[in-house]
Amino acid sequence: MKDTLKHRGMRNKLARIVAAKGIKDKQVLQAIKTVPRHLFLDSGFEDHAYQDKAFPIGASQTISQPYTVAFQTELLQVKPNASILEIGTGSGYQTAILLELKAKVYTIERQQELFKKTKLLLGKLGYRPKKVVFGDGYKGLPEIAPFDGIIVTAGAPNVPKALLSQLKVGGRLVIPVGTDEQIMTLFIRKSEKEFEKQELGLFRFVPMLEDKN
Ligand code: SAH
Repeated sequence: MKDTLKHRGMRNKLARIVAAKGIKDKQVLQAIKTVPRHLFLDSGFEDHAYQDKAFPIGASQTISQPYTVAFQTELLQVKPNASILEIGTGSGYQTAILLELKAKVYTIERQQELFKKTKLLLGKLGYRPKKVVFGDGYKGLPEIAPFDGIIVTAGAPNVPKALLSQLKVGGRLVIPVGTDEQIMTLFIRKSEKEFEKQELGLFRFVPMLEDKN
């Protein structure tokens, strides 16, 4: 598959749809216009890639809806060179959006098959995360922490303590919390001990699973 003028046109339209739904951050919208979402999907979905919808990506997982990706990314307030941890690499689309914002990205995936496939794909497309990790996002990445931002792209039944503890003071954790549906929740670390919490609407994600070993 290639990236063509037609795809670019569809991306511009997608960015307008996402903006109409309330996303204001110009850089986030620019990232939506730039990342070739169709290349993160199986070829059978190419024609649908620029609809504002989630799609299956294999291993019972999904690529998040562009609006959801934009919403979470806007909440992270990514600055150039910020270190960002993503839980749930999945297709790599969200990873690519974060890289367009010039973040240093660390991303964790627990499904081996997706981990391998997406690590290769990101490289092929010229996207260079600092690290693509095969492992359990509940643990975060203590060896790299603290982070300016942590984004969880699977529905978390609870807020993992490890992730809160791996934020810098001033850092932000964006996490959908719940089982059947999730409340998008933003935590801002105000000091070593204090966190501000905001709840920002309902979403639906595949579950964040814990590896019990
Ligand atoms: N950011 C992805 C969203 C993929 S869906 C994208 O843009 O495509 C969520 C992903 O989270 C799935 O790939 C799933 O396997 C992964 N996941 C679920 N629980 C996890 C955990 N504990 N640690 C790491 N990844 C997890």
